[in-house]
Amino acid sequence: MNVLVINAGSSSLKYQLFDMDTETVAAKGICERIGIDGRLKHTPENGKPVFKADIPLPTHAEAINAVIEKLTSEEYGVISSLEDISAVGHRVVHGGQKFSKSVLIDDNVLSAITDCIPLGPLHNPANLMGIKACQKVMPGVPQVAVFDTAFHQTMPEHAYIYPIPYEYYEKHGWRRYGFHGTSHRYVSQKALEFLGIPAEGSRLITCHLGNGSSLAAIKDGKSIDTTMGLTPLEGLPMGTRSGSIDPAIISFIADYEGLSLQQVMEVLNKDSGVLGISGVSSDFRDIEEEAAKGHKRAKLALDCFYYDVTKYIGAYMAAMGGADAIIFTAGLGENSPELREDVIGRLNGLGIYIDKEKNNFKGQFRDITGEGSKVRVLVIPTNEELVIARDTKEIVEG
Ligand code: ADP
Repeated sequence: MNVLVINAGSSSLKYQLFDMDTETVAAKGICERIGIDGRLKHTPENGKPVFKADIPLPTHAEAINAVIEKLTSEEYGVISSLEDISAVGHRVVHGGQKFSKSVLIDDNVLSAITDCIPLGPLHNPANLMGIKACQKVMPGVPQVAVFDTAFHQTMPEHAYIYPIPYEYYEKHGWRRYGFHGTSHRYVSQKALEFLGIPAEGSRLITCHLGNGSSLAAIKDGKSIDTTMGLTPLEGLPMGTRSGSIDPAIISFIADYEGLSLQQVMEVLNKDSGVLGISGVSSDFRDIEEEAAKGHKRAKLALDCFYYDVTKYIGAYMAAMGGADAIIFTAGLGENSPELREDVIGRLNGLGIYIDKEKNNFKGQFRDITGEGSKVRVLVIPTNEELVIARDTKEIVEG
């Protein structure tokens, strides 16, 4: 059974075709600059050549068409026809309070995702474009929605209610939702398997640290708290997002810098985080490089980030009465030994250690727990696409 996984952004569309009999990727790629001019990179995993070219992609429908054409083509293809795709799984960012798990898409689901647009104005419209494009190009092929927010729907009220007038929550649904749920779910389940402990009674802290970053506290296999909020702007400082700040700063920036509310939000989403502090880059590789050369603000940006990761780990240990394991994942969590050494170093006072030798690697599953550590420390590469493909297969097969 082949499942096509789609992650649609406003001007991009990433895809992976999974052979679910072996859970392997048959081909993957990305359409970029949709609605501008158009570019496609398609990578078959069967030894055929990579296709990379500018091609006109006026809408997501042309992008899906181009993807299908490449997947089935003589020269670059991995399947013989559209009929070989049994189902499509879509990443959908905001499922609000309506979705606590993945679902088969029908008209009701489409309108519920549309209802969540006010909560996820930057992502849901693009996700919907991806779904509608697939429905148009592949009518009759079942489509499944997998939500970033779903895994965190188990959070208790005290973790998701904001201390603002309660009526806002009732009227608009403004509460903590959290994101990266698919990743937190995947790595926490992998950790339980690896540790050989049952979900019941387990306490895990998952650190998804990439361009966007969030931590989750996972008790009994369920998310009980996470650092992102109503939107992905809350929590840790990120590549370009501020994370949590004193909300009064918003009016200070507006007044003193003469910016509109919308412009201030742009500053907090696009010009802040480690880019804002360092002035160097939003990419941690560049910042680590500059910091190593003695760049003071690059070093400060890393310090602020590592410190905040540590603070949240401490908070979640308090919330769960301890932890069995801390798990690092995503671009930075998987690939930065410096980050892991620094953060766990700050936790030595709580009896948590890593093995520096074992920590000295990039990008694979590893137990880096140090001798005598009270908490296990694991690095688990995330695989959100595989979770989407698995959920899709399970739902379609009933
Ligand atoms: P996204 O949040 O866009 O999915 P990723 O999880 O792929 O992003 O993470 C991308 C980020 O991971 C990059 O911006 C970079 O900061 C960081 N990263 C990737 N590789 C390394 C590395 N070797 N060292 C340090 N940071 C890295």
